[in-house]
Amino acid sequence: IFETMEYGPAPESADVAIDYLKSHKNKFQLFINGEWKAPSSKENFDSINPSTREKLAEISEANEKDVNLAVKAAKDALPEWVNIGAHQRARYLYAIARQIQKHSRLFAVLESMDNGKPIRETRDIDIPLVARHFYHHAGWAQLRDTELKEYKEIGVIGQIIPWNFPLLMLAWKIAPALAMGNTLVLKPAEFTSLTALLFADICKQIGLPNGVVNIITGHGKTGATLVDHKDVNKIAFTGSTEVGKIIRRATAGTGKKLSLELGGKSPFIVFEDADLDSVVEGVVDAIWFNQGQVCCAGSRLLVEESIAEKLYKKIRKRMESLRVGNSLDKSIDIGAIVAPVQLKTIEELVQQGVDEGSKLWQPSWACPQDGYFYPPTMFTDVSPSSTIAQVEIFGPVLVAMSFRTHKEAVKLANNTRYGLASSIWTENINLALDIAPQIKAGVAWINCTNVFDAAAGFGGYRESGFGREGGKEGLYEYMKPRIHEKFSDKPV
Ligand code: NAD
Repeated sequence: IFETMEYGPAPESADVAIDYLKSHKNKFQLFINGEWKAPSSKENFDSINPSTREKLAEISEANEKDVNLAVKAAKDALPEWVNIGAHQRARYLYAIARQIQKHSRLFAVLESMDNGKPIRETRDIDIPLVARHFYHHAGWAQLRDTELKEYKEIGVIGQIIPWNFPLLMLAWKIAPALAMGNTLVLKPAEFTSLTALLFADICKQIGLPNGVVNIITGHGKTGATLVDHKDVNKIAFTGSTEVGKIIRRATAGTGKKLSLELGGKSPFIVFEDADLDSVVEGVVDAIWFNQGQVCCAGSRLLVEESIAEKLYKKIRKRMESLRVGNSLDKSIDIGAIVAPVQLKTIEELVQQGVDEGSKLWQPSWACPQDGYFYPPTMFTDVSPSSTIAQVEIFGPVLVAMSFRTHKEAVKLANNTRYGLASSIWTENINLALDIAPQIKAGVAWINCTNVFDAAAGFGGYRESGFGREGGKEGLYEYMKPRIHEKFSDKPV
């Protein structure tokens, strides 16, 4: 379905993204009410390519005045967006999906340059999943007036997303919101605004009614202003547990609906009968995919003691063959860390792991020096209560521990404040099906990891947040029951 990109040793050309950035004179405004608008503050900040430290573009910092304008645009656009009906809204969603496919190369290259993630990932995973998400929700948009007629839209949605899957997180937020008849204001993360701004251009291109989608850029303060706005009826947030808690407090007592997709420290459990070669590739996917900057990364490797040393040896061998480098290089496995502040956090936590007495493993080769790179890392001899076993590192750092009994495996897996994902590896399906429901996590993968689909609801428990994105459950996050409204309008 997608424009095929060439595989091979030659790096992917940056030209398509450079031309796009030039079309905005490397300076992006805010997308409000279907128009590009200069920020009221006149303040900008730089978007940097973490693989090269080069400046890509200037991004606008939206202040309160801009947030007010964006929310007003979304509020004004709501009646028409509701009235055009489900069929028409579906047509817009199909049009967005088709444009994303048509420009998939541009989206992939721009995302890799802005975020630092390998082009093989943006090309083969992020962007195809984005298109799939819009197609899936276009289907639901069409069914909205028949299958879901007892429900109606919530109204104006404020959406705040992180930098680790910039366009995919946008899709997870925008597709269901539009499909269920809402209008919205979205704020991308400050490190990775570019594909959200390209998405705004797509909305313009397909003639989406003005004000239905508004994209405002800026730092945390912009997000906080959006959260506090009285005309926002729901906040959908994906990001750190710390900021999630601030938002939960800010929305408490306001009547705003809220969904939170937060951090994780997910267990990757390996039983002694597992196919170890598959496990090793699973580990690569679990913790070195996207430099480990994945909310559901299998960052805690829990191994049955009888096979632990054998598995560690295989993983160390595989670590030697991984390649770190420029995100546009098709032969790399691990790209750049998104920003210096994130790199510093990783370095500090790794140092803490060493100080706490855990054993550090890194490959013998050195990372390139021209960007923000960090090598694949594994800790063994880790105490379950140590910092590195408890804190989300959000980098390419695997923390390995062993267990003797199945009961101990479950106990170790649940020894976390999070509850986002889990991955279980065994050749015994009965064992897997016995263990999976005992793990307190929103997702259980068996003999695989990091598998996503628009039709499957994704979300967490405990400090990983609440609410689901994708699947039928995800639609209810953007609707309210009509019957409920009738009762409250005409109290008995
Ligand atoms: P972050 O919380 O620092 O920032 C997320 C977004 O919130 C950014 O757009 C930021 O500008 C904004 N923000 C910051 N302070 C704010 C405030 N006070 N009010 C409103 N908005 C504010 O997170 P991050 O570093 O961008 O992303 C990494 C985190 O996201 C990790 O913890 C990761 O696990 C989590 N994450 C979770 C999921 C999931 O589905 N559960 C998916 C991806 C990432």
